[in-house]
Amino acid sequence: MIENFTALYATVFYVTVIALAGCELLPLNRQTVQLERRWPTNMGLFGLNFVIVSICIPISAVEVAQRAGSGPLALLPVDPGVGIVVGVLALDLWKYCEHRVMHSFLPVWRFHLVHHTDTDVDFTTTERHHPIEVAFSSVMLLAVIYVLAVPQLAVVTFVLFSTVVTFVSHANLRLPGRTDRILRWLIITPVRACDPPFRDARRDRQQLRRHLHNLGSAIRDLSRASSRP
Ligand SMILES: [Zn+2]
Repeated sequence: MIENFTALYATVFYVTVIALAGCELLPLNRQTVQLERRWPTNMGLFGLNFVIVSICIPISAVEVAQRAGSGPLALLPVDPGVGIVVGVLALDLWKYCEHRVMHSFLPVWRFHLVHHTDTDVDFTTTERHHPIEVAFSSVMLLAVIYVLAVPQLAVVTFVLFSTVVTFVSHANLRLPGRTDRILRWLIITPVRACDPPFRDARRDRQQLRRHLHNLGSAIRDLSRASSRP
């Protein structure tokens, strides 16, 4: 799996994108803002960020994990399977903290605001980010993987799972109520199912909580605790 990571990632990425694009183009999910105005902008930013990161950071997260030495996670006296779970949760916690910082400090928020100024929300919003935010976030993730010595399989699992979850959470879909409630225990369900608007995510606590989470309820509970007055 690790040897074919690039091909596996590309497959998961494009299958998810094509599936969500197909669902969103159904008349049932018609948007308030014309797709012809939003999709070129968001996909253009994705292309620009892809080129910048490919040139400036010519190493993948899995390659960094391969080269990591004896960080804390490598020294954990636990079963390898448990180590992978701990590694995935550690990376998810890191992304949660990073995202929380982006919403908390004005200088950083100004870069992250590009994501939140989309005039509507769909799967293309997932890739709508300022290049500086993407470059900074990519470097920091590689640093965390190296310093903690996150297991390679944990990196593979996290990257693939978070790719699907973040696309689905931004999708312009409204799941049936029961399905939405069940799925919420595992992932963030499509953001359009929640209120108030995505653009208010920095100030509105309920929206912020939903927006920040990536994986399971443990991180969600942690956020609830940290956001109590
Ligand atoms: Zn945000």
